[in-house]
Amino acid sequence: MGIPSITAPVGVGGANRLADVKTIQGLLNLMPTVAGGPLVQLVIDGLCGPKTNGAIRGFQQKQLGFADGRIDPGQQTLQKIIALLNAPSANSGIHTFTGFNGEQVDMLRQDLDRAVLLLQETRGLLGVAPFMKADNHVVKMLLFNFSIDVAPTDNPMAAGFNQVMLTQLQGRLAQLQASLLLPLKFEMGTHAGGLEADAYVIYPDETIYVNPQYFDKADGVERSVVLMHERAHITLQSPDHPGMGGGLAVLVVEPQDDKRPYFNPKGDIFSNAIRNPYNYEWLVSSLKKGPQKMGLMRCTRCR
Ligand SMILES: [Zn+2]
Repeated sequence: MGIPSITAPVGVGGANRLADVKTIQGLLNLMPTVAGGPLVQLVIDGLCGPKTNGAIRGFQQKQLGFADGRIDPGQQTLQKIIALLNAPSANSGIHTFTGFNGEQVDMLRQDLDRAVLLLQETRGLLGVAPFMKADNHVVKMLLFNFSIDVAPTDNPMAAGFNQVMLTQLQGRLAQLQASLLLPLKFEMGTHAGGLEADAYVIYPDETIYVNPQYFDKADGVERSVVLMHERAHITLQSPDHPGMGGGLAVLVVEPQDDKRPYFNPKGDIFSNAIRNPYNYEWLVSSLKKGPQKMGLMRCTRCR
C-alpha cells in the first residue's frame, strides 16, 4: 500500500471530491474506535455528509485536541492517520509467520490487533445490551445469533436464564480476545476452495493457514473477523460449525432472516451457536458495520 493522499480538502468547507472523500472514509474506518475511529463504519460512498464530518471531528478530538471537521492534503490530521496506520503492533514480535511477504505480515498483524479491539468493543456493547430498547441492533443480533433475549420481561425465570446465557457468551468472547494475544502460528495456505476459503485452522495443531485470496479483501474488519473465526475453532474446541451440518447459513440482520430454521435440531440454537465460530464472526462484524445483508453463505471455509 502506498502512502494515502488526497488532492483537495475533505470535510467541513472542503472541496470534497468523490475520490478524496472515499479515501478519507476508508482510512477512518481503519482507525480503531479507541483511537478515535467511528463506532459504526462509514459507508464508503464518496459523499461527505454529517456522518463523515462527525467521524473526522471525532478523530481530531481524540487525537489532536481540536475538531474543525476538515482534513487538508498533507496536513496534521492526515499525517496522524498515516502515523497510526504505520505504528508497530504492540505484539509485533510474538507470532510466527511462514511463507508470507513483508506486506502480508504487516497486514496480518494489523488485522490481529483490530480483532482484539473489535472483541473488546463487542463485549462493551453486550454489557449494556440489557438496557437497550428491544429494536436496537445489538439486542436483535444477540437474539438471532445466539437466541439470547435481553429485552425486558415480566417473567423472572426467563430473565434469569437469558442473563446466564449472556454471561456465558461474554466469557467466551473474553477467552477469544485473550487467546489472540498469545503467540500464534500462521502459514501461507494453498486452499483451492471457493470464495470463503480465506483461512483455515488445522485442529488441534492450531496453525492458522491464510490463503492468498485473504489479502484481496479490502475491508479490514472482514479480514479481522476471519482470523477471529479461525481462532474461535480452538478456543471453543469446535473443529466444525455445530448446528449447521455443512449446509447453508445466513447472516441474520432482520427478523425475517431468522436463521433458526437452518439449525438442527430446529429451534435449539443457543447450545449450537455458543460453539459455532460463525456466530461470533457474524455478531462482531454486524455490531461494527451496522445492519447489513450478506445473503446465503456456504459454511465450508474451514474444510
Ligand atoms: Zn470455520
